[in-house]
Amino acid sequence: MSSLTYTTEIQFIPGIGPERAKALKASGIDVVKHLLHYYPRKYLDRTRILKIGNLRWAEGSVTVIGTVKKADLIKNRGKGGQRLQVFLEDGTGTLELIFFQGVQYLKTTFRPGEAFAVSGNLEQFGPRFSMIHPEYDHIQQDEDELKLINTGGIIPLYPTTDLLRKTGFDSRGFRRILKRVFERLDLNSIPDPLPLALRNRFSVSDLSLSLKAVHQPASNDELISGLNRLKLEEILYFSLQVALRKLQIRENEKGFTFSAEDNLVKKFYQALPFQLTSGQISVLRDIRQDLKRPHPMNRLIQGDVGSGKTVVAMMAMLMAVDNGFQAAFMAPTEILAEQHYKTMETYFKPLGLDVVLLTGSLKQGSKNTGLGLIQTGMSRLVVGTHALIEDQVIFQNLGLIVVDEQHRFGVMQRARLKQKGILPHVLVMSATPIPRTLAMTVYGDLEVSKIKELPTGRLPVKTTVIYDKDRLQLIRTIREQIKKGRQAYFVYPLIEESEKLDLKAATEAFEEIRSDFEGFTTGLLHGRMNSEEKEAVMSGFKSGSIQVLVSTTVIEVGVDVPNATVMVIEHAERFGLAQLHQLRGRVGRGHDQSYCFLITSFKLSKDGKERLATMEQTTDGFVIAEKDLEIRGAGDLYGTRQSGLPDLQLLDLVKDEKLVVQSREMASAILESDPHLRKPEHSLLRERLRNEPSDAILLNEIA
Ligand code: ADP
Ligand code: MG
Repeated sequence: MSSLTYTTEIQFIPGIGPERAKALKASGIDVVKHLLHYYPRKYLDRTRILKIGNLRWAEGSVTVIGTVKKADLIKNRGKGGQRLQVFLEDGTGTLELIFFQGVQYLKTTFRPGEAFAVSGNLEQFGPRFSMIHPEYDHIQQDEDELKLINTGGIIPLYPTTDLLRKTGFDSRGFRRILKRVFERLDLNSIPDPLPLALRNRFSVSDLSLSLKAVHQPASNDELISGLNRLKLEEILYFSLQVALRKLQIRENEKGFTFSAEDNLVKKFYQALPFQLTSGQISVLRDIRQDLKRPHPMNRLIQGDVGSGKTVVAMMAMLMAVDNGFQAAFMAPTEILAEQHYKTMETYFKPLGLDVVLLTGSLKQGSKNTGLGLIQTGMSRLVVGTHALIEDQVIFQNLGLIVVDEQHRFGVMQRARLKQKGILPHVLVMSATPIPRTLAMTVYGDLEVSKIKELPTGRLPVKTTVIYDKDRLQLIRTIREQIKKGRQAYFVYPLIEESEKLDLKAATEAFEEIRSDFEGFTTGLLHGRMNSEEKEAVMSGFKSGSIQVLVSTTVIEVGVDVPNATVMVIEHAERFGLAQLHQLRGRVGRGHDQSYCFLITSFKLSKDGKERLATMEQTTDGFVIAEKDLEIRGAGDLYGTRQSGLPDLQLLDLVKDEKLVVQSREMASAILESDPHLRKPEHSLLRERLRNEPSDAILLNEIA
């Protein structure tokens, strides 16, 4: 029997002729290694497979294997349409399967005589059990398969394609070929990137045994330990990159040490009209520690909307000024930059400090004046948009930059600041709640501080889903609020494909709402207005002279009008969870009870329904973020590419949180003993890391 190794080309596997080799290669499977890393999509656990005759009504899903006796399309009574009824038998009894969707296709799938494994919840009508829309897997009734099933193994089911299936690589085909491979494979030819000592320390199994366990599990325990090892490795390289980047920042980047007395900070603190929350205080303590060190701070403050991040940022800015440095505050939009500018003016003026505003749409004259004040150092404090880090902006001595509500501020922008020859401390603030696993991975090179509580006296926003037909009733409710002196937002979704359409929708809606709220003052805000117009509307709303504000999502982040207690979101089903949460965060900022109404039509997708239900059930940003991750998946949420997250075949960022934590610990352990991965036992890790997509800075580090 010829021996196979990890790197043997697949055409040398007995049973693989030219045609099958071609099909495998077209799927990216060139050598034995690729085949071993072609993982099953799921497993049938024989221990949970029941005989139909032994079925008892039970909670939860059960699995049954049987052959199709017959499959018929039956007309539905009343509503019309038809359903597919399938009878499955296994020698001990008959189970009914019912399908309402995709019935034509399913009829051609469930052919009499064919065998299927079906899983689902049991329903009982009279003496007979049924399953509605079970999950199903086509089972080949050959001897191999039946033996496998009857001897109680765990049966891997493989993903496949038409091309693969044509050459015999359905689930069974993959099982057969892998059986043959493992019979001939020299397991010692599989090099393990994780050295033995490390594996022992973290109780992680060997790579070759893990691969075998995943394809031919002898027990459930063995399968889980194999899967865990492979999952861990999927995220380990990423964790190593993150840890390396952190080391690099610590070692190579010199920063400013802020050690002067907090004179301005103290004055500011004493003048505050409220007590800081304990979350705010603890974040300030973290910042204080960072600023004392001779390396640039790189910290993320994560605090739910309304948790009071701005005050914290202002105090950090004053720490810079106390130390003779300038501080800049960068906001994602002009509206926000202006709002923050006003807030800071009211707080900083009494301390004798001027603030400069710098945005793209400023008139050239005021811009030049501002630029001059910044360059000469006459002004210590600057607020602006992205314009702040443009080339023409020269600071006298920038010591701190605060980046508000912009979680994409990353390596690139830092690099840009560095190019300007400065390495200020960076403080990023975000209300977009980042689930723990993502904070550890995507934001792994940032230190994270959380503000967990809202200032006292805030009531959770009452949230209700409203169907279009109940609109009139809703308008009446809102009019009551306004009569009490409160204010309301109406937000329309942005239709990205066409700004024109968007504008039309918002303007039309505006007319309608104006008549709904006759006797009150209304204002309209959208992205097409120039900044003066926007500014006029915003300050009208802020001062209370505008009572109802109709807007596109330009107000999504950061806007702070505590007297507004009503947020109406139109076509709420079109928004993502994070966005709905942000929008809702515009209300509930004062002491009065606030309300959020999510308007939608009855035609809702399953995801849409789930999102709106989540919003009704909780106001906790972290719960919402976890849910969002669950509904959409990490890749979709953050864009795998942008976040630098690797393609994850097995690991689930939500469910496998423990493994993510373990990979971080493992990465630190590795780098602690060998910061540049120069030891021979780390040569495979080093090689793998060099082939990972990554940024250039990192590559220099391990090259
Ligand atoms: P966010 O974290 O969403 O940016 P802001 O900084 O805009 O929140 O703060 C929301 C509102 O809460 C502001 O009006 C701010 O003045 C107020 N605020 C901040 N901290 C406190 C506190 N400790 N007690 C009471 N109100 C506070
Ligand atoms: Mg804010």
